[in-house]
Amino acid sequence: MSELPTPAYVYELDEVRRAHAELASELPAPSRLYYSLKANPHPAIVAALRAEGCHAEVCSPGELAAALSAGVDPAQMLYTGPGKRDADVQAAVKAGVTWVSVDSPEGLDQVDRVARDLGVVARCLLRVNDTTPVPGMGLTMTGVASQFGADADWIRAAPERFAARPNARLAGLHLYMGTNLTDEAALVAQLRQSIATARDLAFLCGDELEVIDLGGGFAAPYARAGRPPRYPGLAAAVTAALDDAFAGWRGGHPHIAFESGRRLVATAGSLLTRVLDVKRSRDQHVLVLESGINHLGGMSGLRRLPPIVPALHAPGAGGETDGPAIVAGPLCTPLDAWARGATVPRLRAGDLVRVPNVGAYGLTASLLAFLGHPAPAEVVLDGGRIVHASTLTLHRTHLDLGQEHR
Ligand SMILES: *Cc1c(COP(=O)(O)O)cnc(C)c1O
Repeated sequence: MSELPTPAYVYELDEVRRAHAELASELPAPSRLYYSLKANPHPAIVAALRAEGCHAEVCSPGELAAALSAGVDPAQMLYTGPGKRDADVQAAVKAGVTWVSVDSPEGLDQVDRVARDLGVVARCLLRVNDTTPVPGMGLTMTGVASQFGADADWIRAAPERFAARPNARLAGLHLYMGTNLTDEAALVAQLRQSIATARDLAFLCGDELEVIDLGGGFAAPYARAGRPPRYPGLAAAVTAALDDAFAGWRGGHPHIAFESGRRLVATAGSLLTRVLDVKRSRDQHVLVLESGINHLGGMSGLRRLPPIVPALHAPGAGGETDGPAIVAGPLCTPLDAWARGATVPRLRAGDLVRVPNVGAYGLTASLLAFLGHPAPAEVVLDGGRIVHASTLTLHRTHLDLGQEHR
């Protein structure tokens, strides 16, 4: 692939399908799986997952547009997010989205208002922030003070505030406890707790209960080699918990849903980029690459990501290494470093390096606009052949606010 332009993200649809098949085989049946576009909204990836039967979880106008352009049926979309503008909910409902996740009484009022104006009835999932945190490896999003969902204790204390509105039916519950749980026991414990909480709060929906969305937490490696962890016992354990809690779930009363971003796409993407400069500074090697936090790992500025150390992209490359090294990008800020004190392959200017397993939270989780470098190419392979190549561009659009033109 050395004939590709660099930097370039390369996505392999075969691997997207493989990851989907692996995860689907680990989930209880029947269940539906939402692909969270946040992980990677590239339309070719969304379309591949739609073809595998995934529904789509979207939470912005841009993700809605990406899902629509990938051919996802709006009736199979769930619109989520802790804060939504009326205009955005309106655009989603107008496009045909019928499921909205709401996070508060205000959120229910908003959907009711928007749906009434459009003369429709929307179906809402109430997102619940469970009372007890479940310990695990990943980022905890529940059981602590949070902008996500309504606290389970609040709902129990004031259920009338969460009752259906005339144009906003309360047709399910949405739990999302945490992410990237590599330990099967922790993941199962989290899903069991979500099921118990959902059973406890299902009275809110009454006869309207259609969907229990149990979220996810399925892990995948990020920017390092390796395969995702497998969960061979998950389906049986969760099936048993569902049988206890929801007698009709096997017949779709309610439908059980899961969500995943990273597990479906992380392993399908890699970033190819070149070394621009190699030098020494005091006791460190310094590698300067074409790509920094503008192309990958923009969230590392928030200390959310582990160090990123690229590998030499050459068949049969030798095992020689240099270290300790600073792995830096081209941006004029000391924050633009993927790693410090890292052991890196022995590299020269012009060498091609590769960061594996960055199909999720890659380009669109990065600081694309910062410093104005062009975005990497995005190249999609299917069966080893290029089926799509494009690059994202940012451009300024004029707003007419009645200002004088100068
Ligand atoms: C981010 C997010 C996901 C996807 O998380 P992954 O760790 O990528 O699977 C799913 N659901 C919700 C509500 C999210 O916010």
